[in-house]
Amino acid sequence: MAKHTIVLIPGDGIGPEVTAATRRVLEAAGLSVEWVELPAGAVAIEQGHDDVLPKRTLAAIQAHKVALKGPVTTPVGKGFKSVNVQLRKSLNLYAAVRPVRSLNGVKTRYDNVDIVIIRENTEGLYSGIENEVVPGVVTSLKVATEVACTRIARYAFRYATRRHRRKINVFHKANIMKLTDGLFLNASRKIQEEEYPNIEYEETIIDAGCMKIVQDPTRLDVLLMENLYGDLVSDLCAGLVGGLGVVPGSNIGDEAAVFEAVHGSAPDIAGKNAANPLALIMSGVMMLEHLHEDALAKKVQTAYDAVLAEGKTLTKDLAMLAEASGEKRQPTVVGTSEFADAIIAKMK
Ligand code: NAD
Repeated sequence: MAKHTIVLIPGDGIGPEVTAATRRVLEAAGLSVEWVELPAGAVAIEQGHDDVLPKRTLAAIQAHKVALKGPVTTPVGKGFKSVNVQLRKSLNLYAAVRPVRSLNGVKTRYDNVDIVIIRENTEGLYSGIENEVVPGVVTSLKVATEVACTRIARYAFRYATRRHRRKINVFHKANIMKLTDGLFLNASRKIQEEEYPNIEYEETIIDAGCMKIVQDPTRLDVLLMENLYGDLVSDLCAGLVGGLGVVPGSNIGDEAAVFEAVHGSAPDIAGKNAANPLALIMSGVMMLEHLHEDALAKKVQTAYDAVLAEGKTLTKDLAMLAEASGEKRQPTVVGTSEFADAIIAKMK
């Protein structure tokens, strides 16, 4: 019998390609796993389910506690409610954790970036509660509750303490959104003062925070923020270290955890074997750590570090970065599955 049962949601767009690659890498590392593959998104409707987030998919994650998920396309300005928002709310996956680190061999404008974004994942302006007051007048509700603000603050400080991080910086706009962001700040401040005085604490208005990120990201450590800010700042920070192809993520709750990359379904490159699977493979490493499979996590990490440091075999996004940085060596540009093969070869 396999040691772990993990729900696998391939998603759509580049999802099936990057999940297949990640699955092969994790199995090659020696993960004893039974995958329970289930749909979400438009694919679920095509397969005859009556909802984009089928009850079976949700129930399987509740039962097995861990899922690896590819991205899911969400229609813009119409159509169904975001599968991701539904999933995070239904399972109470209240903390999105997104480590953004410079990688040896991936040259960008910045070196030594080591930021962790902790994003409140269940409310804020991302709640999707919208309303037409009268034709031509619409509103979107920003929700903040003391329970959720306190829960994410406590999670962030506990994370920082366990991971030996130095400082938490809360990005906010409480100068304008005095009640909602004010509550978020008060909860963070209280948790720091009463429970985690060991961690340094700072509050930064988010517009100035964005400037600080691009001026010198090496000065930042753990960034804590509400849902929508976390969404935006995650992609901004991805740009510091090589793009969406190299930034992993996890959605953590008390009862379950879903591991997925920060990137979306990338329709522009879907079905072309052109996506970088590394972001999801790195999310897989976070999942291995969550499952206490630290040796396997290290094995996969060492293997992709070696591939990147060598710089001989790269996906298109990374090859373009190498060229832009003035790299003279010509890498072999490979597809999603061949890049996974290169990582697997390093584990043998
Ligand atoms: P995106 O992240 O899909 O793509 C942005 C850009 O980054 C594109 O140029 C894309 O080609 C590139 N890119 C993304 N991932 C890459 C990878 N692994 N390798 C190489 N290049 C990569 O963002 P988008 O185009 O704004 O969104 C597309 C769809 O994805 C939307 O429907 C959106 O709602 C959805 N989305 C889903 C999730 C999720 O399921 N967790 C997250 C974000 C966006």
